[in-house]
Amino acid sequence: MTGTLYIVSTPIGNLEDITLRALRTLRAVDYIIAEDTRATGKLLARYRVVTPFYTSYYQGVEKERIAPVIALLEEGKDLALVSDAGTPLVSDPGYPLVRAAVERGIRVVPVPGPCAALAALVASGLPTDRFSFEGMLPRKEGERRARLNELRDEKRTIIIYESPHRIGSTLALLSEIVPDREIVIARELTKLHEEFLRGTPKELLHILEAQSEKTKGEFVLVIAGAQEKGASMSRAEKLAGVLREEGITGKAAVRILVDGLGLSRNAAYRLVHSG
Ligand code: SAM
Repeated sequence: MTGTLYIVSTPIGNLEDITLRALRTLRAVDYIIAEDTRATGKLLARYRVVTPFYTSYYQGVEKERIAPVIALLEEGKDLALVSDAGTPLVSDPGYPLVRAAVERGIRVVPVPGPCAALAALVASGLPTDRFSFEGMLPRKEGERRARLNELRDEKRTIIIYESPHRIGSTLALLSEIVPDREIVIARELTKLHEEFLRGTPKELLHILEAQSEKTKGEFVLVIAGAQEKGASMSRAEKLAGVLREEGITGKAAVRILVDGLGLSRNAAYRLVHSG
């Protein structure tokens, strides 16, 4: 009988974020395949998991590792794939292996757990009903600009993984492309200095420029989707008109539009002051 390939999620910072099932699976399998055996070694040591590593499985060696890993599964060995942090295959290696296993009829079992994208989304305060996960943007600024331009009209909430080296330049691009959009930076999720910074791209740039320690660590960018032009703007305009008629102006009116309709602060400010 062929073995099973388990896709095991591991913590994204806080080592307590490991499920009982993940630990049981890591203990039970014949081998663990880790992106980086040193990184995973710390987690295994903390929980006294003594299962041996079969190999490391990082982007550069992904293709050459598929055949021996599939051979082990076909011999009947159970394997657990883990990445350095979070859910394997989500902006991490593993997809070609899972594809190869599925094509050969090998059982693939997810053992779900932490994922930075979902952790950021659910605490962002932005709509969670529909979202688009964009992973990492291209490194080159021109390509990054082109990708962000493509996303300008995306109506779903957008989730992007960003590195500390590029967070400033990505926010600068966003301030050109979607200046009024509400953005949430989820930084150092589940770690000691976890925080959520909210604002327009310019407001966030100012925060990062003023406090350089906030440019360090790991980031997820959550970006509000584009507003439905017809429907939601006319609702917002109508509400702004009613508020004006009722004598509710200034900050109070802006707050009602932001909290009630999910408008960005800038768009709400413009509506309140345009009447
Ligand atoms: N597979 C992982 C997952 O499930 O989230 C993502 C791996 S990807 C190589 C690494 C990126 O995820 C980082 O550059 C950052 O954008 C995001 N990330 C990972 N851990 C994070 C954390 N604790 N806080 C914020 N972002 C994090």
